[in-house]
Amino acid sequence: MSAVLDQSAGIQTDPDVILSVRDLTKYFPITGGLFSRTVGHVKALDGVSFDVKKGETLGLVGESGCGKTTTGRAVLRLIEPTSGQVIFEGRDIVKLPKSEMRALRREMQIVFQDPFGSLNPRMSVGEIIEEPLIIHHIGDSQSRQNRVRELLEVVGLAAYHIRRYPHEFSGGQRQRIGIARALALNPKLVVADEPVSALDVSIQSQILNLMEDLQREFGLTYLFIAHGLNVIRHIAERVGVMYLGVIMEIADSDAIYKHPLHPYTEALFSAIPIPNPALRRERIILQGDVPSPVNPPSGCRFHTRCPIAQEQCKVERPPLKESAPGHWVACHFR
Ligand code: SF4
Repeated sequence: MSAVLDQSAGIQTDPDVILSVRDLTKYFPITGGLFSRTVGHVKALDGVSFDVKKGETLGLVGESGCGKTTTGRAVLRLIEPTSGQVIFEGRDIVKLPKSEMRALRREMQIVFQDPFGSLNPRMSVGEIIEEPLIIHHIGDSQSRQNRVRELLEVVGLAAYHIRRYPHEFSGGQRQRIGIARALALNPKLVVADEPVSALDVSIQSQILNLMEDLQREFGLTYLFIAHGLNVIRHIAERVGVMYLGVIMEIADSDAIYKHPLHPYTEALFSAIPIPNPALRRERIILQGDVPSPVNPPSGCRFHTRCPIAQEQCKVERPPLKESAPGHWVACHFR
């Protein structure tokens, strides 16, 4: 019988796994009426489970609104999950008191999507990168300044940039500043939330190459969120595909790009052109729109758009099961 990745299967004790997410949910309340009562919920995450191995890059992809950004933030508890487990190095951080969570933040950092909005325009670059060191009471003023200069050089900027302000930099340079800030505390896990989607294509590969270099140099683990499939292909060893708050498929990058199993992944990836003109891939156009996460479809969330859906799909939610070694898929028929 194939393995099933959910809460009932328990947490894997694989020493290579740095992060295990199990059955993670996040429901945002919708309020209305005279007394602002809760009248419903946006089910942004509805039972998300995956593992991230030490030193790897797990890419999360899906259309906008699929829950990938919410997953990244809930994993770091930048938003509080509604339920589920986030096990980081053996500890369920969802249960940690705020004080312990704050200490743990040293190990888990985020690079934001918007290099323009995520840097305080009134702070110098030096102050921005030094801020996490001050918050965590690390070093004295002189050692922190030295660390900031070192970080600027690590991300391909110059030590003399320390006194400049964000508006003096290009988008790519600002994202380098964001990466330097994320690295200031020597984290083990970095959640990269669409870090290149606001940048020109020519700059994107520079930032991706920088992130790969830093990963090798510092042994970083990335949870890399993107909607650009080519970006994920470039950087991720494994890929998780999300749809309407649920993981539909996870596998090695090569396996999922060449032989996707889930009908949604097949449709999503059919849009990627194949460089070899001798090979043709049929483009699969899905019918209809993504349903609302306020009232998601019963059973398999994809059944309203799935070309091979059957009656069972309307009532029974398919578990995320291992169909081939390391290749997990949530479909009754794959
Ligand atoms: Fe399609 Fe059914 Fe598989 Fe869902 S479970 S992807 S609806 S075939």
